[in-house]
Amino acid sequence: MAKVLEYNAVLSKREDLTSSLGIFTVVPDVPLPAGESWFEPGQYMVLGLNNEAVPELGAVQRPMSIASAPEVTDSIEFYIRFVSAPASKNPFTHLLWKCAEGERMFIRPKPKGHFTVADTVGWDDPRKKVFVSAGTGLAPFVSVVRSAINREPGRDLGEYVILHGASYADDLGYREQLETWSSESGLHYVPTVSRPGECPGWEGPAGRAEDHFRPERLAELEARSGLDEGGMRPENAVLFVCGLQGTIGATIERLLERGFVPDDKKLRKAFEVPADTPSSIFYEQYDSDPVVDLTDEGHVAVLRDTLHAALAER
Ligand SMILES: Cc1cc2nc3c(=O)[nH]c(=O)nc-3n(C[C@H](O)[C@H](O)[C@H](O)COP(=O)(O)OP(=O)(O)OC[C@H]3O[C@@H](n4cnc5c(N)ncnc54)[C@H](O)[C@@H]3O)c2cc1C
Repeated sequence: MAKVLEYNAVLSKREDLTSSLGIFTVVPDVPLPAGESWFEPGQYMVLGLNNEAVPELGAVQRPMSIASAPEVTDSIEFYIRFVSAPASKNPFTHLLWKCAEGERMFIRPKPKGHFTVADTVGWDDPRKKVFVSAGTGLAPFVSVVRSAINREPGRDLGEYVILHGASYADDLGYREQLETWSSESGLHYVPTVSRPGECPGWEGPAGRAEDHFRPERLAELEARSGLDEGGMRPENAVLFVCGLQGTIGATIERLLERGFVPDDKKLRKAFEVPADTPSSIFYEQYDSDPVVDLTDEGHVAVLRDTLHAALAER
């Protein structure tokens, strides 16, 4: 018999930003630890639902990045996309989209993951934190900035850059909040849409998030990030990329010529990165396609040479 999850939480709120994008707030039955940081911003939790319409398909559980801050202890927020072409027969997002406020669900109690500032470069690292995301990959970065403000109200957010890509302006979740932090607290917020022609009134940056790392566009991004021209280098910045393979892979490949090193054992080995060269691009991947196609030896050789030329210049 298919496994059935015992529900232990309530979907207390859902805010549909579009028909396929939403902010979901979950309240676990067991209260969250009050008065302390109960997770590190950047971590995820696992949500689960039983397929009640087709019970033989059983239950499905999926990891979701936490968008709320750890200082919030009465609920947990998630930023989730409905996947219209899922890979599985029992897609979680299709069940979630049928859930109304007040319905029950499952949440694994323990937050997980190491895609955090604390577990990578550490909070004391003075470099610019450049957060790159497409779609719902924004979630962990919203958590980081929310937490930074909670811990130190009124602080300057100039050390953070949020580059957020979406197809349409309406898909730029949290935009109002991010614009407020940008105008009031110095956050470098760079929203970018890949279909500007279909977004009436859009006057902001165009293209996918990763397009901004093309050599001809780097100076523009540096200016928007508060970096000097040519300053997007590991001496001054550390990159965090979250979302699907396309965004992660292209960002890594385009930044090799600036000497950025991906934090991944296989990639470091393929690129023959010296052991004492620290990683400077960290990523969290939502799908499972290889970030860089390591079977294409010719392409890997070009990437390796590009990185080594950049490292030799430093
Ligand atoms: C650590 C981690 C954190 C995650 N956090 C989030 C999150 O905060 N918000 C979120 O929406 N998803 C997140 N995901 C993805 C999520 O776990 C599921 O993979 C996704 O919701 C699809 O599940 P499904 O069962 O509906 O589809 P499945 O049948 O499992 O289909 C999987 C396919 O859906 C596509 N896909 C997965 N995620 C997305 C996405 N976000 N946008 C567009 N296409 C996608 C990919 O092609 C993937 O191969 C995260 C994944 C991981 C590994």
